[in-house]
Amino acid sequence: MTAIVIPIFADHPDEAMTHLRAAAASGADMVELRCDRASLETVRRLLRQRPESAGGKRLPVIVTFRSVAEGGGFSGTDEMLACGVEIAAAEQAAYVDIEFAAWRRSEALRRRAAAVCGHPDGAGPRVILSAHDFSGRPADLRERVQAMAETPGHAVVKIAWKAANVAEAVEALQLVEEVRQRYGREMVALTMGESGQLSRLLAAKFRQPFTFATLSRGEESAPGQPTVAELRGLYRWEAQASRTAVCGVIGWPVGHSMSPAIHNAGFEQVGFDGVYVPLPVEPAYETFASAVDALRDCPGMNLRGLSVTIPHKEHAIRYVRERGGRIDELSAHIGVINTIIFETQGQAGRLYGLNTDYAGALDALAGAMGKRREDLAGKRAAVLGAGGAARAIVAGLAHYGAATVIYNRTPERARALAEEFNGTPGEVAAALLESLSESCCDVYINCTPLGMHPKIEGCPVPEDMTFSREKVAFDTIYNPLETKFLRIAAAQGATTVPGVEMFVRQGAIQFEHFTGRPAPVDTFRAILRKHLQPPW
Ligand code: NAP
Repeated sequence: MTAIVIPIFADHPDEAMTHLRAAAASGADMVELRCDRASLETVRRLLRQRPESAGGKRLPVIVTFRSVAEGGGFSGTDEMLACGVEIAAAEQAAYVDIEFAAWRRSEALRRRAAAVCGHPDGAGPRVILSAHDFSGRPADLRERVQAMAETPGHAVVKIAWKAANVAEAVEALQLVEEVRQRYGREMVALTMGESGQLSRLLAAKFRQPFTFATLSRGEESAPGQPTVAELRGLYRWEAQASRTAVCGVIGWPVGHSMSPAIHNAGFEQVGFDGVYVPLPVEPAYETFASAVDALRDCPGMNLRGLSVTIPHKEHAIRYVRERGGRIDELSAHIGVINTIIFETQGQAGRLYGLNTDYAGALDALAGAMGKRREDLAGKRAAVLGAGGAARAIVAGLAHYGAATVIYNRTPERARALAEEFNGTPGEVAAALLESLSESCCDVYINCTPLGMHPKIEGCPVPEDMTFSREKVAFDTIYNPLETKFLRIAAAQGATTVPGVEMFVRQGAIQFEHFTGRPAPVDTFRAILRKHLQPPW
C-alpha cells in the first residue's frame, strides 16, 4: 500500500509538535520532518517526543535535510548531515532522505550512513536517494535516474521536478515502472506544479512506496500537493491498483471541474475499478495531442475515457480523426466533441469520439416532460443564443424532428446556425430577439450566459414575458441552481429544467461509456447540488 506522507517543517519546534500531533490524529501513514533550518538538538527532541500513530507505534518519520540548491533551506556541512542521519537512526526514523549530490560528494557521509541505515535485519532507517529540480525536467533525467538506481546502499530512488505539462507527469509514472523492472528498485517520481499533479494522484496505482499530501490547503511543501482527504476521499486511494482504469477531464483551467467528484463517487457506488482525475492541459492543439498520446502510450495506464472541456472540444474531434478513430454522425455534424472513449472490446485501442452535451440536454428536457428524446418530434423550441451550447442543442433538436427558432443578440449568427441545421430533418429558423415575447413555442432554452454566477440578476427573456403551465423553461446555466429566468417561468406555473440536470445527464452518458454500467444519477445530482448550494 502506498503511504501518504505529510511534510512538517521543524523550523519552530512548538508548531512542529502541534503538526506532528495533528498528523498522528489524522491517521497519516507517515510524516516527513523537514529539518532544513532546525538545529540538530531540535531534530533529536522532536523525533524523541513524537506522538504515537493510530496503531500505537511511534509515528513513522522520514527525516529530510533539503538543501538550498534543491529548493530547501539546508545550508549546513556534510558533517552536519551525517550527524543528522545518525540522530534519525538513533530515534528510529523509518527513512532518511539523502540527496544524490551529497551522497556522491561525501565519502564520509556514505560510510557513516551505511553504519546506521538499512541493515539487512530491518534495523536502521532506509535511505531515500533523492534529486529535485524546481526549474523543470532535468535534461539528463534518464541518465540521472540510472545512476541513482545503480548506486548501492539505498532503498528508494526519489526524483522530483517541476512539470511543464501532463505528458511529463505521465513520464514520471512510467519511470517508476521502468526502475522497478530494470533495477528491482522502488521509486518515488513526483512532478511538481498543477500540470504534474497526476504523478501524485496515481501514485497508488503505480505502486510508488509513498507520496506527499497536506492536511489542509495552504500548507503545501511543494506546488501541486493534494490534501490527504482528496487522495483518500476523492481519488479512491485505497481502491487504486495496477489494473485500475483511468478516466479524466482535460481542459484549461480544470481545477473547478465537478466531474472528478461525480465520476469517482459513481465508480465507488457501482463497484467499477477506475479512478477519474483532472488533466490541466494548456490551450494549444499540440499540447492536447501530446498529453493524450502520452496517456494512451504509457504502459499500465489503462486509459478508458476522457471528458473534454473548454478549450479543447474542437481539438478532440481533430485528434480522434487524425488517430483514425470514429465519430458518431451527429457529433461530426456538430463539429465538436466532449468525450473520447478508448475502446477495450472488439477494436481494442481504437478511439471513439462523441458529443454528450446535446444528448444530455435533450435527455434533461425530455425527462422533465416525462418523455423520451424521440417524443420531441413536432415540438416547437425557442433557443436563446447561437454559441457552442446552442449549436449542439439546435443540432440535437433538429435531429429528433423538433421545430426550432433561434433568437440571438447577433442575428447573423442565428441565421447562419439555422441555415446549417434546417431540414436535418426538423425545421430551424432564426428570428429577431425583439420578437421573443410574441413567440408561441412549447419550450424555451437559454444558451446564453445571462444569469450566470456572479451576475445572477441577468435574464435572457423580458421580465414581463408570459409562460403558461404547458410551457417548459430550460436554462443551461448550472450556477446558480435556479436562475432568474427559471424563477420567472416557475412563478407562472411552467415546468422548469435547471442546467445542473443537463450536466448530470451528459456526465451519465459518459459514465456509461466509461464503465458499461448505468450511471447513479441520483448520486450525481446530490453531489452537484451540495457543491452548488448558496452562497456562491
Ligand atoms: P458561447 O459559445 O460563448 O455563446 C454564448 C452565446 O450567448 C452567444 O450566442 C452570445 O451572443 C450570447 N450572449 C453572450 N453574452 C450575451 C449578452 N450579454 N446578451 C445577449 N446574448 C449574449 O458560450 P456557450 O459555450 O454556448 O455557453 C453558453 C451557456 O451554456 C453558458 O452559460 C454555459 O454555462 C452553458 N452550458 C451549460 C452546460 C451544462 O452542462 N449545463 C454545458 C455547456 C454550456 P453573440 O452571438 O451575440 O455573441
